[in-house]
Amino acid sequence: MEINPVKILIVEDDELLRSMLTNLLETDGHEVHTASNGTDAIEIIERESFDIIITDIVMPGVDGVGVLEAAKRIDSGCDVIMITGFATAESAVQSMKLGAYDYIIKPFNLDHIKIIIAKTLEKRKLIKKVAEGEYYKQLSRVDGLTELYNHRFFHQLLESEIGRALRYEHPLTLLMIDIDNFKKLNDSKGHQTGDIVLKGVASILKQTSRDCDLIARYGGDEFAIIIPETDKNNAATIGNRVREQVESKNFFQHETTEKNTITISIGLAAFPVDAINKKELITKADKALYKAKSLGRNKIFIYSEKLETT
Ligand code: GH3
Ligand code: MG
Repeated sequence: MEINPVKILIVEDDELLRSMLTNLLETDGHEVHTASNGTDAIEIIERESFDIIITDIVMPGVDGVGVLEAAKRIDSGCDVIMITGFATAESAVQSMKLGAYDYIIKPFNLDHIKIIIAKTLEKRKLIKKVAEGEYYKQLSRVDGLTELYNHRFFHQLLESEIGRALRYEHPLTLLMIDIDNFKKLNDSKGHQTGDIVLKGVASILKQTSRDCDLIARYGGDEFAIIIPETDKNNAATIGNRVREQVESKNFFQHETTEKNTITISIGLAAFPVDAINKKELITKADKALYKAKSLGRNKIFIYSEKLETT
């Protein structure tokens, strides 16, 4: 059951056919509008949107093909059904190439019209479902606050990127990033300000990275960037750029006297030189991150074997 009535526009110069179609479709609960020529129809389509447009092909002035073209230009999502006589059946087929969804041949068989409308509505429902499915799929991958990939999807991405790096024997670097003294910020300025900073840092990460880098909110105030096809030294350059951008951004523009206090620490480890699987790579990048913290924060630390012995 449709919650909103389906909006249908009938474009037909024959008054008898127009009212017959109107009665038929209104009886089925649809909201029906009519036009008796192509010019009026285009005016109506420009004003409001329709789910389905049923248009006669042969009309004086702007014909059905003209209506079809205008309808598709104005709202490509509407479905246009052409009405044609036996003699002009070929033009109906041509119309399908221009984007018409189906055609009805005169004289009408009412059951046939009902079936075509039902089929069109079924297709529209399916398309809507697919679009909604994509939306929810997207929701399940994205962190609501920062709009970065979420923790769960980060793990899938890292697994697949490691697989690719392994196949092509290319390097891959993982950056683990954590905001410094974020608890203090939450405590002194409130959770909402904390959220603004999280969003601000996320947007710097997006702006500073390349399109192929995969950025995620790992959790709380921790972020991760997967940098494919890049070794540790080159990735460190990207990391340092991110660190400097965060340090120089004024997150509290309204508080002109306040010095910017937001900094981040970054730990960095690479596949395959430091780790040969996902778990190990995360562990090592995390170890490097904690080293960056212990060295005084606002630093980037590159993992090395030496870290294990100190
Ligand atoms: P460090 O420099 O060692 O990282 O110190 P820190 O204070 O930043 O410590 P930690 O990284 O452990 O703190 C994370 C804090 O982030 C704790 C938690 O209250 C806060 N937090 C987690 N998620 C959110 C969130 O969605 N919004 C806000 N505002 N705060 C959050
Ligand atoms: Mg922190």
